Amino acid sequence: MSDQCVFCEIVAGKVPHAKVFEDDMTYAFMDINPASDGHLLVVPKRHSKDLLEIPADDLTAVTLTAQRIAKTAIKELGADGVNLLNCCGADAWQTVFHFHLHVVPRYVDKAKDRLVLPWQPGVSGYADTITALADQLSPALD
Ligand code: AMP
Ligand code: ZN
Repeated sequence: MSDQCVFCEIVAGKVPHAKVFEDDMTYAFMDINPASDGHLLVVPKRHSKDLLEIPADDLTAVTLTAQRIAKTAIKELGADGVNLLNCCGADAWQTVFHFHLHVVPRYVDKAKDRLVLPWQPGVSGYADTITALADQLSPALD
C-alpha cells in the first residue's frame, strides 16, 4: 500500500466504491466518471505507479482480469465491443498513479457510450517518418 493512493485505499476498503471483482492479485471497480455504461477499472492489489514499473506477474494478472470482464460486459451488458486503455504518465492523461486498465464497454447506442476517438482515423502519416521511427526503436529492442 502506498501513502495517499486512492486506489490502494479502494483495495483496502477505506474509500466507498462499487466493487465488481477481486482475486488474489487484482481488484476491479466502477469508474466514478464513466465514459460509457459499465466503464470500470482493473488494478493490481500491489501498488505500482504505472506501466513502466508494474512487475510482469501483476501486469499479466490485471490483463487477464480485464479480458474476463470484457467478455462478461459483452454477455451481460449487451456491449457491442470493448476498449482497454492505459494511460502512462501525466502527459499521456494518467491522473491516478496506481497502474490501472480501463475496461470501457462500447455500444452502437450512443446514449450508453460517450467515448470518442482522440485521433483522426484514415489520415496517413509520412512514410519516411514512420520508417525512421521503426528503425530507431527496433535495434533498441534486440
Ligand atoms: P487515468 O486518468 O487513466 O489515470 O484514470 C483515472 C480514472 O480513475 C479516471 O477515469 C477517474 O474517473 C477514476 N477515479 C478517480 N478516483 C476514483 C474513485 N475514487 N473511484 C472510482 N474511480 C475513480
Ligand atoms: Zn496504490
